[in-house]
Amino acid sequence: MAEINDALGAKEYLTEMRKKFDKTMAPEMKAAMKEAINALDLQISQSPDITGDGYAPGTDQIVYDTWHCPNCGCSYEYPDDTHDFCPACGQAIRWPQEDS
Ligand SMILES: [Zn+2]
Repeated sequence: MAEINDALGAKEYLTEMRKKFDKTMAPEMKAAMKEAINALDLQISQSPDITGDGYAPGTDQIVYDTWHCPNCGCSYEYPDDTHDFCPACGQAIRWPQEDS
């Protein structure tokens, strides 16, 4: 078993255990694991959907001015109102420039 040192590793482990012991786990244990997995999901950063609905004046370049939370779908101004965590649901957001 690999060492678990981040939210993704913990989620994968709990998901596996939940499957493995599905038949024998008490309902409370199942519910608690489900909540834990959901909480971990928020910590695992996801890329936002960045969209635009118009073109820069006189060009065919789309202006990307809105981002949407990949978890709850809330919309915010881009790039003026970006957050590391969605203000509505707490989803960790991974911004494109952090990938490089
Ligand atoms: Zn959200």
